[in-house]
Order: sequence, then structure tokens, then C-alpha cells
Amino acid sequence: MNYNKKSIEDIEVSGKRVLCRCDFNVPTKDGKITSDKRIVAAMPTIEYLVGHGAKVILCSHMGKPKNGYEEKYSLKVVAERLSELLGKPVALAADVGGEDSKAKVAAMQPGDVVLLENTRFAKGETKNDPELSKALAELADVFVNDAFGSAHRAHASTAGVADYLPAVCGYLVQKEVSVMGKALADPERPFVAILGGAKVSDKLNVIQNLLEKVDTLIIGGGMAYTFLAAKGCGVGTSLLDGEKLDYCRQMMAKAEAKGVKLLLPVDTTVASAFPDPIDGEIAVQVVPSEAIPADKMGLDIGPKTMALYADAVKAAKTVVWNGPMGVFENPTLAKGTIAVAQALAESGAVTIVGGGDSAAACEQLGFADKITHISTGGGASLEFLEGRELPGIACLLNK
Ligand code: ADP
Ligand code: MG
Repeated sequence: MNYNKKSIEDIEVSGKRVLCRCDFNVPTKDGKITSDKRIVAAMPTIEYLVGHGAKVILCSHMGKPKNGYEEKYSLKVVAERLSELLGKPVALAADVGGEDSKAKVAAMQPGDVVLLENTRFAKGETKNDPELSKALAELADVFVNDAFGSAHRAHASTAGVADYLPAVCGYLVQKEVSVMGKALADPERPFVAILGGAKVSDKLNVIQNLLEKVDTLIIGGGMAYTFLAAKGCGVGTSLLDGEKLDYCRQMMAKAEAKGVKLLLPVDTTVASAFPDPIDGEIAVQVVPSEAIPADKMGLDIGPKTMALYADAVKAAKTVVWNGPMGVFENPTLAKGTIAVAQALAESGAVTIVGGGDSAAACEQLGFADKITHISTGGGASLEFLEGRELPGIACLLNK
């Protein structure tokens, strides 16, 4: 896949109608935005377009509405926040490329900003329906994709629309693609990847590809137990993907054949049950990973493992990290994640963090400004690292 893509700076935007796909998939509670980080992150691209006299038509999905319009998924709150950040009105079209969108776009002056309603209110969005792609394309002269977090999905507003319009990337997508593309294409070595978190089945699939690229693969978090079980260890009541045991065995054999170091937890912090509430007090004990009691659940890596992983990270020149080492939302179970985050921060290596929770952990723990690149896309960054072609990027014009 070619990662050298044209950006908004490589195409004429002044006076043009520019449809810009953003990631405004912000968390909300009781009708209020609880973190506007993603909106703030989109501002450089939006401000560039406004500053160059484009008619800026923004669109995004938010949440997973299933049957058309639902008030709780309306982008009204996003339009309000955008308007505050931009210091100018941002009109919200009531539909996604329908009559109201057309009318609002027709009334735009250069520098104006219109936001379309939640793209997933349109039933063709997730099906990548060409009718919806065409309707969106008819609103504009140029398509800009700045939603890296959705780039692994071939939806009408992320990829389909590019069949009908010249398409380029915004600043967010440009940065993601250039930093991660370089790390994968020509990494400084040793190249270490760290995988953890709870989405075990999704993430196990990445391993196959990562083993082609890395010198060391570190496994922690919920995915470690499937590996430990595959080696014949009892894992108690820990997270386990019973269908992936053979796969894990194959991956361990592949690592060995390729001379890739595959590190698994040598000790594990266990408790009787998952913490409830998640940040509540919890009684834990540390056990060797091959001796997890049958009634215990592994919830973090143990101290010996922390030291082992930190050493591997400190020796690295490139590190990719996706997924926390334990249930970091709980202070007692955050130690493994802290140790790894700290090792990344102190490594002096090129460090890339992907995944919503790993990124949140870095921020929460105060290490974010010491990381080279924190990806905005969880699933997208994983697929990128898997070496898969992302439809929302493949559809953009090459430089
Ligand atoms: P990311 O968002 O970084 O991609 P995931 O969504 O896959 O990561 O996983 C994050 C979640 O994994 C966190 O909520 C964390 O509590 C959970 N987790 C980590 N280790 C374990 C474990 N041993 N058992 C259960 N859950 C875990
Ligand atoms: Mg997550």
C-alpha cells in the first residue's frame, strides 16, 4: 500500500466546496460531551480549510445508531462545540446529503462551515451504498478524509464518496500515516511490539503479521492468558479465547522459527473476581504465571514481568504499544501498565501508542507528552500494523 498521499495542501481548496470526514465520535453523557478531544484534534484541518476560503462541509458518525435518526446520537452537541471553538456559527443539516444538506450547502459563502447529521443515520453508510456516496459527493468538489479512526471501514462517508470526488487527507490522517507508515516500512531496530488489553480475539490476529516485522513481541493484559493456556498452564478464571489455542501455539512456533523473542508474563497479579466497581478496593496476590489458582483471575502482570518488559522496551529503538497490561482503571491493577508506559517514556525510542484505552492510560498517567505518536484510531491502527490496506486511505490520491 502506498502511504504517500496527497493532503489538503496539495490541492486547490479556495472557493471550493470541501466535504471533510472527521472523527467526531465523542463520548457523551446526559446529552453533554464528556471529552471534546476529538473535536479539538480536528481543528487544524478545519481551520486550514476555513482560512483558505473553502466552503467547509463536515461529516462524522457518532455512536452506533441502528434505525435512522435518534436524538441521543444527533451531532447537535458537536455543532455547538465546533461553533465555540471556531468562533463562528456552524449550521447543522438535518440529514446526510438530503434536501436540507443541499439547501444549507447552496447558501454557503467561502469560509462558512456546515455540519451534516450523523452519517450512520443514513442507512447506506455502513453498507457503503453508492447512492449515499453519490449524494454526499454531489454536495462537494473535493473530499478530505481526516477520520483515521474510521479509515479501516469501507463506508460511504469514509471511502465510497472518493469514487466520485478527488480525495486527499487532512492533517490528522497525514500524521498517522506518515509516522506509522515509516515505523512499519523501515523501523529502527530493535523493533518491539507490545500487545495487551481485552479485545483478545481481534488482537490475536495482528500477531501473525507483527512477527514478520518485530524483533521482540511482548504480550500482556487479557491476551496473555490464551498464550499461557496454549502452553499448558492453568489460567483460573482469567480472560481466555478457547478457540485460539492452536493459533497461539502456531504463533509461538513461528516466533521461534523467525528468531523473534516472544515474551509472556512470568508472574501475574490475581484476585478472586473482577473489581466491582472497577476502581474499587481489591485484595490481590502475585503468583507465578504457571501457577494461577483455579479460582483466581489474572488482572495485571506481576513485578518480575514488569522489570522484564521494561528492560526489553529500554533496549528498543522503535516501540509499538496497543492495549494495557492490566485493569489499569483500578489503581491496584495499574502497576503493570504504568511500568510499561514509563519504560516507553524513558526509552528514547520512536514510540507509537494505538488503542483508545492505551492512549487514555498514557494520558491519565502523565506520559503522553513523552510518546512520539499517540494514534487516534484503535481498530484502524491495529489493522495498519497488521499490514492491511485501509479503505479510507487507499482511496486517497497518491502524491
Ligand atoms: P485498547 O483500547 O487500548 O485497544 P482494549 O480495549 O483491547 O485496549 O482493552 C482495554 C481494557 O482491557 C481495559 O479496560 C482493561 O481494564 C482491560 N484489561 C486489561 N487486562 C485485563 C485482564 N487481565 N483481564 C480483564 N481485562 C483486562
Ligand atoms: Mg478499548
